[in-house]
Amino acid sequence: MEWRAHQAPELQPRLVAQVTRMKENDRLGHAYLFTGESGSGKLASAHYLIQLTLCEAGENVPCETCRACRLVKSGNHLNVHHLEPDGQFIKREQVDQLIHELSKTAREKGRKFYVIQESHRMNASSSNALLKFLEEPTSDVTALLLTEQPHALLQTIRSRCQQMTLQPISPDLVKEQLMAQQVSETMASTVSRLVPSVEEGLALIEEEEFGLARKGVLKLIEALERGTAHALVQAHEHVIPLLKDKEKADRILDLLLFAYRDIIAVKANPMSTCTFPDKKAFWEQLAMKSTFEQLTYQLEHIMKARRRLHQNANRTLLMEQLVIELREVSPVV
Ligand SMILES: [Zn+2]
Repeated sequence: MEWRAHQAPELQPRLVAQVTRMKENDRLGHAYLFTGESGSGKLASAHYLIQLTLCEAGENVPCETCRACRLVKSGNHLNVHHLEPDGQFIKREQVDQLIHELSKTAREKGRKFYVIQESHRMNASSSNALLKFLEEPTSDVTALLLTEQPHALLQTIRSRCQQMTLQPISPDLVKEQLMAQQVSETMASTVSRLVPSVEEGLALIEEEEFGLARKGVLKLIEALERGTAHALVQAHEHVIPLLKDKEKADRILDLLLFAYRDIIAVKANPMSTCTFPDKKAFWEQLAMKSTFEQLTYQLEHIMKARRRLHQNANRTLLMEQLVIELREVSPVV
């Protein structure tokens, strides 16, 4: 288990401040439910809380050097337990085993912690076993349940936990972290608008079709400037072949939507950050030629196409129609 506490202050500054106040006031409870999107830093935040509490230096941040900090960071602290799904579910035996471990006499001083990742994956039997344990809290044990789907947990479990709601990660932070992983600024700008986390961003960049989709959408917008016939040809060559499933089609419409948002943003403020920074000069040309009204209509047509996609409209026809509609409201050159 990789120890992630160091990521928490950057990912979740508000939550870290809240945890710090809890420690200052010596008010650590028996059970917490960390809820937040994938990539928002639930595990990092849980690890931060644990390290801060167990650190022997007694400061407002983990010292990183005391014996407890070192044991915790290397994953060897005997008071810290982790549970994650074994296959699809967290099984009853896993919960029983955890409770057994926690009930043993402590070999380290200080509070004991257990972290349950993807806690919504407990089945009925494991949920009930955990609930029983939560209902009889022992003074020195704290539960940290992590989930993206709090409502999939038993209500009785939720009500036993204090909720810790994580903030969504800002696209700028995702972009920064992607660039720290050697992703180009251009690609990081685009990807950070489309997905909420670095992990998902890196996965998207790995997909060959994503690069093609990005190029295809930009070619389509250029072709729209030259007329409907050009645009339809481009759509058939570079965009329609990529509409294989609904998810991919959705992504293409997202890219198109963000491109027009870029143009509007550049028109409103030339210093705006763009989803497609490599196209900024072109966006400026289009922004100059178009009125806000035209651009707004174009956005509305894209959003309408997305609704039709979700109603299972034929994807080729949908894209052809969208091209025609985008062209209709384009400025006459
Ligand atoms: Zn320490």
